[in-house]
Amino acid sequence: MTMNEQLTEIWVFGDYRNYFQNRVTLQLLSRGVELAQKTGATVCAVVFGHEVDEWVGEYIAHGADRVLVIDHPELKQYKMETYVNLMVQLIEDLNPDIILIGATNFGREFAPRIAKRMQTGLSADCVGLDINEDGIMVQTAPSFGGNVLAEIITPECRPQMATIRPGTFQEIPHNYERTGEVVKLELPDNLPEERVKLVQSERSTQRFQRIEEAKVVVCGGRGMGSKKKFRKLAELAALMNAEIGATRPVIYANWIESEALIGQAGKNIKPKVLFSFGISGAIQHTAAIKNAEFIIAVNKNPKAPMMAMADIAIVADANQVCTAMIKELKRRIR
Ligand SMILES: Cc1cc2nc3c(=O)[nH]c(=O)nc-3n(C[C@H](O)[C@H](O)[C@H](O)COP(=O)(O)OP(=O)(O)OC[C@H]3O[C@@H](n4cnc5c(N)ncnc54)[C@H](O)[C@@H]3O)c2cc1C
Repeated sequence: MTMNEQLTEIWVFGDYRNYFQNRVTLQLLSRGVELAQKTGATVCAVVFGHEVDEWVGEYIAHGADRVLVIDHPELKQYKMETYVNLMVQLIEDLNPDIILIGATNFGREFAPRIAKRMQTGLSADCVGLDINEDGIMVQTAPSFGGNVLAEIITPECRPQMATIRPGTFQEIPHNYERTGEVVKLELPDNLPEERVKLVQSERSTQRFQRIEEAKVVVCGGRGMGSKKKFRKLAELAALMNAEIGATRPVIYANWIESEALIGQAGKNIKPKVLFSFGISGAIQHTAAIKNAEFIIAVNKNPKAPMMAMADIAIVADANQVCTAMIKELKRRIR
């Protein structure tokens, strides 16, 4: 691509499963629109599935100029090989310049396979996207254990591909007056047979699906001391109608499910109030909480980096503070 060449199309893969909780596709559409304004490109959502008209409409309302749809009963459930094969065929036929996919469990499985097949680069888990003066996408991703943010470009290969962490960008409010082009494509009949057979699927009842959007988050670290004590923190979160998050040692110790992980390897959050209990404040964790508006940290070590980052730093035993808060909240609720 030369300096004056214009990008033509930015694709956002539409992961509509769990639409009301998982907003990453909408966040990517929003950033796609901003990138497109810098380059004159159009923004296109790609949707595979069955009876997906509702989501097609949502993507147009949230900024897509065009939606490519393959709607077929065979695509009702996500099938990795089939979805990858379809996407590769579409890319080969239509040559998009940029493809953005959410860095969810699904995206982390889907995107690298496409990049490998297209022999192009992929920046995983990006926390920023921009366009440089040469019209090339700059993909900002944590590197070296999160200690540096690397700016990565894909100067020669196409498409330029990135997975982006949920919560990195803000979705544009919907506008149901918007119109866009809907291109319905047939399911090709020459797709290789799926080698993985889906035996059964059921909707997850897990919590943590709204943590990225939560207004109040209670986050606990190794300083909580034990699984039993960590459960108290979950009780505190429930009393405040807050979501509960955790650091990596807590996940590794199996005190809570891995979906609660906040940090470079987990989720980004941006609550109005964040309570941080027994957390030292390693960069791999704090990188994901930098958009929290107000932080209250409890740590027995006043020099812990988390305390320097907090708006209110309480030097105390985390369990004692947690227990006192539970007692006080229960007293007020009664
Ligand atoms: C590639 C890579 C990716 C990573 N990704 C992540 C990630 O996504 N998320 C993440 O969290 N980490 C991640 N980590 C790990 C990270 O570097 C830290 O090790 C981790 O965040 C530390 O968790 P912690 O604060 O709970 O534990 P610690 O660092 O052990 O801190 C415990 C804190 O609790 C305090 N404390 C102890 N007892 C009490 C008490 N009774 N009352 C009050 N305070 C007390 C201590 O003073 C200390 O500050 C990653 C590391 C690497 C290398």
